[in-house]
Amino acid sequence: MRVGIFGGTFNPPHIGHLTSLQEVLKKSGLGKIHVIPAFQNPLKTPLEGASAEQRYDMTKLAVEAWSDQFIVDDQEIKRGGKSYTIDTIKNIRKKVEANDLYLIIGMDKLDELEEWKDLNGILTEANLIVTTRPGFEFPQKKEELPKTICDLVEEFDFNFVELKTGRNIQFIRIKDVPASGTEIRKWIRIGKNVEKYVPLAVESYIKKNKMYQPLGDKVGDFEKFTQFCANTLFMKKGINVRGFDIRPMTAPSEFTLIASGTSTRHAASLAENVIMAVKEEYNVNPQSLEGIDEGRWVVVDYGSLIIHIFYDYVRNEYALENLW
Ligand code: ATP
Repeated sequence: MRVGIFGGTFNPPHIGHLTSLQEVLKKSGLGKIHVIPAFQNPLKTPLEGASAEQRYDMTKLAVEAWSDQFIVDDQEIKRGGKSYTIDTIKNIRKKVEANDLYLIIGMDKLDELEEWKDLNGILTEANLIVTTRPGFEFPQKKEELPKTICDLVEEFDFNFVELKTGRNIQFIRIKDVPASGTEIRKWIRIGKNVEKYVPLAVESYIKKNKMYQPLGDKVGDFEKFTQFCANTLFMKKGINVRGFDIRPMTAPSEFTLIASGTSTRHAASLAENVIMAVKEEYNVNPQSLEGIDEGRWVVVDYGSLIIHIFYDYVRNEYALENLW
């Protein structure tokens, strides 16, 4: 039997995941798909939201009507630590031939594969299925594939690529579902209805467990919290750290901090240091985090406090603080 592997954070699982699972099952002739919530994606900073167990529970609820075909597999959660796909594949390979094993990802993940541990090993131990995702185009020629994959291509035929490892890549078009965990978490926090994007049982679970709520209870006094973050930035040699109380303005947040680093690396490390210090002092992770890979303009979102950390040169270009 052909077996699929569909990994993710599932924070929360949504209709985009279900559409992918169902259409891939139908179009690729797989017998079953292991749906595997990651304990910790090695490339993502932990964000406030659901625990690993809650993500597992929600994933089970999301696919429970199709439990013969979609098996929610807790191996990464049980293993703990960083979840590497190569370890998971090797584990499943004990029971399934490489030829019959298919790793399923959305097109948004294709370029990211270069950063995954042992990509060569992954493409030796399993085939790859890539699905469409709104906003991302399939590669039209071999050179548009990530470099490591491009070097492995034996034959490129648009929807089907044969690899020198003996495995192949299939590109499968699925219905466009403009949903992502990041957006859904944001919508729930501001009280927007997400029933169109989240299976009913998952929505009830989120409500029952009061998940994805604003951070107010954990943080307490946001003015003090802002001072704490500003001090951390000072201590790590952040340049020109400035705080703004924007409560008089009708903005979604109450406080803003702006600081900069002498380089993109320094800006990213300032953000990392604030995130670590806050986690230690308040046991809170950011609600969202953007731009840390590039370090030009990093936005750390704690709800009522938003921190902008720039590479100083970029800060001068945007002159964001003139807004306040
Ligand atoms: P987040 O926004 O929190 O990063 P996400 O919604 O992108 O999360 P993941 O759990 O990281 O979801 O994704 C698991 C897998 O599902 C990935 O391979 C991803 O490409 C795919 N996927 C997620 N959303 C969609 C969608 N709307 N359409 C197609 N594939 C999707």
